Amino acid sequence: MSATAIMDRLPAVRGKLLFDVPLNPYTWLRVGGAAEVLFMPTDEADLSLFLAACPKEIAVFPMGAASNLLVRDGGIRGVVVRLGPAFGKVTIEGNHIRAGAAALDKSVAKAAAKAGLAGLEFYAGIPGTIGGALRMNAGCYDAETKDRLREIVAIDRLGRRVVKSVDEIGFSYRHSDAPEDWIFVEALFEGTPDDRTKIQARMDEITARREASQPIRDKTGGSTFANPDGHKSWQLIDAAGGRGRQVGGAQMSEQHCNFMINTGHASAADFEALGEGIRDDVRKQSGIDLRWEIKRVGEPQ
Ligand SMILES: Cc1cc2nc3c(=O)[nH]c(=O)nc-3n(C[C@H](O)[C@H](O)[C@H](O)COP(=O)(O)OP(=O)(O)OC[C@H]3O[C@@H](n4cnc5c(N)ncnc54)[C@H](O)[C@@H]3O)c2cc1C
Repeated sequence: MSATAIMDRLPAVRGKLLFDVPLNPYTWLRVGGAAEVLFMPTDEADLSLFLAACPKEIAVFPMGAASNLLVRDGGIRGVVVRLGPAFGKVTIEGNHIRAGAAALDKSVAKAAAKAGLAGLEFYAGIPGTIGGALRMNAGCYDAETKDRLREIVAIDRLGRRVVKSVDEIGFSYRHSDAPEDWIFVEALFEGTPDDRTKIQARMDEITARREASQPIRDKTGGSTFANPDGHKSWQLIDAAGGRGRQVGGAQMSEQHCNFMINTGHASAADFEALGEGIRDDVRKQSGIDLRWEIKRVGEPQ
C-alpha cells in the first residue's frame, strides 16, 4: 500500500505515526527492511483508541527492544507499534513490582534489588523489555518470567483493556499462549524480601557469567533455537559442525554456537539461510528438529 493510501485509513493519534521507517537500526541483529508504518503511542488511551479505530485488515505488530527478532529484508507490512517512555515506569508496591511493558528487564531487576525484593535477578541478564519478556516467557538460569509474574495488562485488537492473572494465561518454555494480537502494557511481579547486598551479588554473578559465555557485545539475537527437551541446542549444533559457520555476513558465533552474529554486512536472508542450513544438518545428524526461538517476521525481499 502507498504511504498516502495507508495514512488515509489510519485514525488520528496524539503519538507519532511515521511512514516507511527502516527497522535495521532498532534490531539487535541490525538487519531488516522498513515498517510500512511505525506508531509510537503517547499513552495507553492513545494506543486503545488507535487499535479500536484501525481497520482490522491492517496488521499490527508490537516490537520491544527487538533483541529476539529477525526482521526480513522486505520489511513489515501494516503498523509496527513501539511503546515509549509513558510505558516504561517501574514502581514498588509493598512486595510487588509494577512495570510498564517498555521498561527494560534490567531496570526491573535493578528496581527490585534496590527495594530489597529478590526473585527477579535473572532479568539482569536479558536485554529485552517487559513486553517481550511476557510474550517469550523470557528466562535464564532456571528462572523464567512466569515464576514471579502475578498479573498482566494488555490492550486487545479492539482497543479493550484486558487484565489477567498469570494462571489465566498458559506460559511454557519461551512461549506464552496469550492471543497474538494483544499488546502488553503492564506487568505485576511479586518479589521476596531479602538483603539488598545479596541480591546485588547474585545479579553481578549473572552479568559476569553472561560476559564470559556469550557474545553480548556483538550484533546478535541471543539464542537462535530453543533447547529441545533433554538437549542443549548449542551441543547439537556443535556436533553437526555448525560452530563458526558463515553465510554471507551471518555467522554462528565461535564463542556460543547457538548465537548468530552479524559480522558486518549480513542481510536477514543470510541469517535465515544460515539457520535453516543448521536445522537441516542437526536433523540429519541427530534426528532432532530445532525450533527457532528468534521470531522471524516480515516479508522477504
Ligand atoms: C545478547 C542476548 C542475550 C539474550 N539472552 C536471553 C536469555 O537468557 N533468556 C531469554 O529468554 N532470552 C534471551 N534473549 C532474547 C531476548 O532478549 C528475549 O526474548 C526478550 O524477552 C525479548 O524482548 P524484546 O523486548 O527485545 O522483544 P522483541 O524482540 O522486540 O519481540 C519479541 C516478541 O515479543 C513480542 N512483543 C514485544 N513487545 C510486546 C508487547 N508490548 N506486547 C506484546 N508482544 C510484544 C514481539 O511481537 C515478538 O513476538 C537474549 C537476546 C540477546 C540479544
